[in-house]
Amino acid sequence: FVKKHLKGNYCFYSLELQNKSLEQIKMINYLRHAIDHNEFYLLYQPIIDLQSSNLMGAEVLIRWVHPKLGVIPPMKFIPLAEETGLIYDIEKWVLKTALMQKKDWQEKKYPNLKISINISGKRITSAGIINEIRDLLHETRLKSDEIQLEVTETAVMKDLDASMKILNEIKNMGIQIALDDFGTGYSSLTYLKKLPIDIVKLDREFIKNISIENNDRLIIEHIIKLIQELNLKVLAEGIELQEQVAILKNYNCDYGQGYLFGKPVTKEEFEKLILSN
Ligand code: C2E
Ligand code: MG
Ligand code: MG
Ligand code: MG
Repeated sequence: FVKKHLKGNYCFYSLELQNKSLEQIKMINYLRHAIDHNEFYLLYQPIIDLQSSNLMGAEVLIRWVHPKLGVIPPMKFIPLAEETGLIYDIEKWVLKTALMQKKDWQEKKYPNLKISINISGKRITSAGIINEIRDLLHETRLKSDEIQLEVTETAVMKDLDASMKILNEIKNMGIQIALDDFGTGYSSLTYLKKLPIDIVKLDREFIKNISIENNDRLIIEHIIKLIQELNLKVLAEGIELQEQVAILKNYNCDYGQGYLFGKPVTKEEFEKLILSN
């Protein structure tokens, strides 16, 4: 099976394949095919300035449409892509496509919006990303301060020294760095002052119950305060209710993202959103 389906890639993958089920091997093969045949597209989810209610940017979220299996969500293929190294090609495409999109919006004279791109743990420890970003900035002539990269704490923790070095270089280029999904991993507070980050994205789990649980409200109030006292901005993820907005606004939370403001949408739909804002 392996030989027949992976052909020339057999040697390259043989180590990775040792502990994989046939199902996973099939998916890896599909992924390789997806990269070669461009089966990915990007969605954009609005990020809102909570105090002014203005649209301030978008998070870029990848989707994969397999010709037979349909749309496959990122959680189903990003981990596999990371394990096999296919993530390098995938995220290279994401970064390039997102920056080209931003360039296109700039040329159409749309208002300036920040573009926030997820970077996997594997890439944040490999120096190649620095040149990739530098080349893309050169090619698109975009200003670096309108671009933000999102990394998770778990990803950074895997190799703290290597990722710190790369994050510092990226930050020195003027690109902003967001710590994503804060609250789901170890959420060690020491990382907040150690990492060269600009913004902390509070995971949906933190936000979910703030309109019904006093303790959750207390925690979020003080987390926001702590983050801001460290001179970082704070964004609340997964906002679905108007009550949550009222509470977060009251606690001075800087930014918000969630289905209440808008689900991730195609570039065409996002353009309508920009123009109606
Ligand atoms: P994330 O970076 O934390 O992205 C936010 C996820 O929460 C997105 O799921 C988004 O659709 C979802 N979401 C946003 N607002 C709400 C809400 O109000 N309620 C609920 N229930 N969900 C909400 P999605 O698009 O399925 O992405 C899942 C994860 O996949 C992302 O989590 C990110 O870690 C990863 N991912 C997506 N695109 C990329 C990529 O290009 N590269 C990498 N490395 N990871 C990516
Ligand atoms: Mg993210
Ligand atoms: Mg997140
Ligand atoms: Mg998340």
